[in-house]
Amino acid sequence: MTSSIKTSNLPTPNEPILSRQKLEVFLTSLTLVTAILAFMAANTQQSSIWVLFLYSVAYIAGGYYGVIDSIELLKEKNLDVNLLMILAAMGAAVIGQPAEGATLLFLFSLSNTLQSFAMDKSRKAINKLLQLRSSVARIIRDGQTFDIPIEELILGDIVVVRPGERFPIDGEVMNGSSNVDQSPITGESIPVYKENGDTVFAGTVNGNGALEIKVTRLAEDTTLARIVQMVEDAQNRKAKTQRRLDQFEKYYSGFILGSAVLLIIIPYIFGQSFYTAFYRSMIWLVVASPCALVISTPASILSAIANGARNGILFKGGAHLETTATLKAIAFDKTGTLTTGKPNIKSIIPFGEVTEDQLLRFAASAESKSEHPIALAITRAAELKELNLENVSFFQAFPGKGVLAKTNNDSILIGNRRLFTSQNFIIPNELNHQADDLVEKGETAMLVNVSDQWYGIIGVSDTLREDAEFIVNKLKQAGIQKVIMLTGDNQNVAAEIAKLTGVDEFHAELMPEDKVRILKEIQKKYGATAMVGDGINDAPALATADVGIAMGGAGTDIALETADVVLMADNLSSLPHTIGLAIKANKVVWQNLTFSILVIIGLITSTFIIDLPLPWGVVGHEGSTVIVVLNGLRLLRYNPK
Ligand code: ADP
Ligand code: MG
Repeated sequence: MTSSIKTSNLPTPNEPILSRQKLEVFLTSLTLVTAILAFMAANTQQSSIWVLFLYSVAYIAGGYYGVIDSIELLKEKNLDVNLLMILAAMGAAVIGQPAEGATLLFLFSLSNTLQSFAMDKSRKAINKLLQLRSSVARIIRDGQTFDIPIEELILGDIVVVRPGERFPIDGEVMNGSSNVDQSPITGESIPVYKENGDTVFAGTVNGNGALEIKVTRLAEDTTLARIVQMVEDAQNRKAKTQRRLDQFEKYYSGFILGSAVLLIIIPYIFGQSFYTAFYRSMIWLVVASPCALVISTPASILSAIANGARNGILFKGGAHLETTATLKAIAFDKTGTLTTGKPNIKSIIPFGEVTEDQLLRFAASAESKSEHPIALAITRAAELKELNLENVSFFQAFPGKGVLAKTNNDSILIGNRRLFTSQNFIIPNELNHQADDLVEKGETAMLVNVSDQWYGIIGVSDTLREDAEFIVNKLKQAGIQKVIMLTGDNQNVAAEIAKLTGVDEFHAELMPEDKVRILKEIQKKYGATAMVGDGINDAPALATADVGIAMGGAGTDIALETADVVLMADNLSSLPHTIGLAIKANKVVWQNLTFSILVIIGLITSTFIIDLPLPWGVVGHEGSTVIVVLNGLRLLRYNPK
């Protein structure tokens, strides 16, 4: 029996879950013992007061939580299956079959207890995440090293993390280098090398080097804290199938209750004994109750969400898990998704009298305000050459084209040719040819113009992620029919990457709004489509897709916020797991639904054809409920490797 553990009624991990669980175990045992004693007492002709007392205890112990949960729901004008079971047990007592009623209540509370243990196993995944939190951090203030509670850390504090210790807080490495095991957060199995300037996350484990890190996020804002919050939210958000089942349960319970009454009245009118009619009606109440059916979805979805969280995959709700299982096509953003998003500067071609350093200096000044991967490459190159950048007083990004920045004296434009034609610039032939040459070589060419004077061209190229082709292949094996690449980059680069990764289709030179338009076309053509991006400037496409999948969730806030599914690691390796898990979860949900419906049909048929005794009805009913929950639990262990 189920509904006492509806997801929404589940205690949050901060509440003492155990107290109810322990009490449930106690009450279930009490039901068993008193029921047996009562049965023996009745058979050995003990005083009937004694028998009555023992049965009463058995009834109260066995029905306690069922009654409480039913009353809760009745207050919300909601019927649930708990109520049916309680009524059946009371009915059994009324017609002088208290032993069968007590058996029913015992099995009922036993299966409830088993279920809440099982469901709790999925919930514990969050508790595991909570355990990754440290309580104190070792900081250096005024030359002194001491421990303080992490809640008292302020931004900019310097925290010392020794080899093998867990990072207490999100921060930036200021001193030292080390290999960091990020698997608790991102699911990445291989440690990640961290040095000055790199970000580290609370909950991950330091390798062999001592590190000093600067606190960049308060304890309540860490990536870990937000993952915990999101997984909790996700588990409380109901899947579509479940919402439908909840609706169904309400009417179905009413129907069963009504028909139970008719099952007493009608046969009675037609001359059957009241006892027989009533007994059968009680069995009807039990076997027709959709307990297994109602629990089948949440039991599976909770486990799947927990499995994801352990592997660095956040589903923001059961509904997204369901949609992911039905995907027909997956569209990838190129930069930062199929490629590493860390482009290298390949060519710096100054124009006219301008020097290479001047070109780079102005380009980097403008890009210093941009978060685009290309911008980072350009500013890094300027840093290496120790060029002094101009102060930028105004900055504007043109997504898919480039940027405009103003300094005290100048206005700097850097971007692709589309940027300049859209601003009514006429590009000199020589620059056009040089840009063509770079594109021919597979580079992405950016023109630079400072206060209406052409400064030259910068060519960058991005490296493909090592496993991109492997991942694309895996997705196709998993049943994704079309893998598509969408990019704002030029046709040439796009074609090259498409060839190397083996995507089925690619669209190049797209503005962010073009990506949305093409995505809609893909949805129309192939069906449910996911968009995979890094969240930077592809938020509209992520929102349009049936499932928006953002990667690098541990690094960027936008990714965490805009997507339906977040891959915590900044790579694609968990994508096949994501799809595989969703498909598996879907399968398990359907197995559970089919199984529970068949059991109900089987039990109902037996009730009317072979006069199934009540205890057997209860065994079949509760047994199927437990089986469905255990089947859902299998998803905790799903691992495609
Ligand atoms: P993608 O779809 O590959 O992620 P974007 O839409 O981010 O590409 O950008 C498309 C093109 O716009 C880039 O290839 C580049 O030519 C230009 N661009 C975008 N942002 C910038 C920037 N900050 N600086 C220079 N060029 C840019
Ligand atoms: Mg991008």
